Amino acid sequence: MSLAENLDAIQQRIRTACERAGREPGSVTLLAVTKGQPPEVVSAAARLGQVLFGENKVQEARAKIPLCPGNLRWHFIGHLQSNKCRDAVELFEMIQSVDSLSLAREISKRAEAAARKVPVMLEVNVAGEASKFGYAPEKLLAEIKELNALPRLEIQGLMTVPPWSAEPEKARPHFRRLRGLKADSQQILGASLPHLSMGMSGDFEIAIEEGATLVRIGTALFGPRARARLRTETD
Ligand SMILES: *Cc1c(COP(=O)(O)O)cnc(C)c1O
Repeated sequence: MSLAENLDAIQQRIRTACERAGREPGSVTLLAVTKGQPPEVVSAAARLGQVLFGENKVQEARAKIPLCPGNLRWHFIGHLQSNKCRDAVELFEMIQSVDSLSLAREISKRAEAAARKVPVMLEVNVAGEASKFGYAPEKLLAEIKELNALPRLEIQGLMTVPPWSAEPEKARPHFRRLRGLKADSQQILGASLPHLSMGMSGDFEIAIEEGATLVRIGTALFGPRARARLRTETD
């Protein structure tokens, strides 16, 4: 299948999942994950009307984004190290993977230096997997007020990557948990959070049924990535 066909098929599946869940089709945004893909692939997706893209490594993004059309919007979705915050603030409209107070403070500091506010999501390790980054749910709720008080950060919602499974249905309780944590967070903050970033190629329809507002899709759009996803190196 061509990229155009993949994009059409995914948009159709998003609409169908919204219908099934009684949600407005416009309530779910597709973020195209282009990690491991060259700038030509980004440009091809942009020509088809895709505007929102995601990368998970600062170094890769720093090389790639300048070679892509300038009118695109980029979200950071990988593990962020403190020493990459300045670049991340420069390259990305939103950072979806804030997972500690110290990282949040560093982003706020860099945002101040760049004279901007940075919308962020808080990444939650819903299943407590040792191999994954992300807030433990209890810690998130304990720290969210302090996170929200950082002057240059705008908390937009929560993000998660559930445990991998060949059966998409297995992800449902984890998505539900994230939705519950968003409700708890809203209660603590006394404000509503617009976003739930959850759902990838294998499970995005389930995520939509459970309230996702943003689905992050790579493989189902672009095919397998050239570089193995088993790489353990983080950026
Ligand atoms: C790679 C990645 C995705 C996309 O995964 P696919 O299975 O290729 O759709 C989504 N979210 C994050 C955080 C990722 O690293």
